[in-house]
Amino acid sequence: MSGNLFVITAPSGAGKTSMVRELLSADSNIQLSISYTTRPPRPGEVNGTDYHFISEDTFLSMLEKGEFLESAEVYGNRYGTSHTWISQKMESGTDILLEIDWQGAAQVRKIFPETLGIFILPPSLEALRDRLKNRSQDSAEVIERRMQAAREDISHVGEFDYVIINNDFKAAVQDLLAVVRASRLTTRKQLARHSNLLTQLK
Ligand code: 5GP
Repeated sequence: MSGNLFVITAPSGAGKTSMVRELLSADSNIQLSISYTTRPPRPGEVNGTDYHFISEDTFLSMLEKGEFLESAEVYGNRYGTSHTWISQKMESGTDILLEIDWQGAAQVRKIFPETLGIFILPPSLEALRDRLKNRSQDSAEVIERRMQAAREDISHVGEFDYVIINNDFKAAVQDLLAVVRASRLTTRKQLARHSNLLTQLK
């Protein structure tokens, strides 16, 4: 039986990465796809853990060879998800999480219509700007560009199945865990997982 495919999307600074980190440490049955990017690493980011950091040339050659399930240009950098990794994991029945933007989410949904889309919203635009500033990894100009992009990202919220508002971080993580758990309890998933039990109970 194939696992669930989750796509989690949020404007930059909504707290998505921290929420995903909590989810992964609380739930060992879900694995995160590590994306490829042409963006340079931020301080503290590790190659192969946060992203596979690659050159523009390598990215274009992978794109040409069809190695990406989806890809997109976000804030001037390229990002892509490995097709091979996803296919292998899907076959093994593991739940998979893609932390990608709305353009990538739309491409994945077309290929795998059962994808569960989760959108994380900040409690307000002011809170988003504060978080981007506090992160202080980006210049003022980049922050303003990200604020504009956030509005564009948020306009796609209706394409997703679940919306989580990250006002209280702990509560937002609980919401995320609840979505993941509930997705495993659908009748279709449960009947496939417990076919022996169902046979006995008949
Ligand atoms: P950041 O550079 O801040 O880590 O990520 C910028 C944006 O790119 C975020 O919205 C993030 O979700 C998105 N992103 C990261 N990896 C991928 C990917 O593989 N595909 C797509 N489409 N977007 C990605």
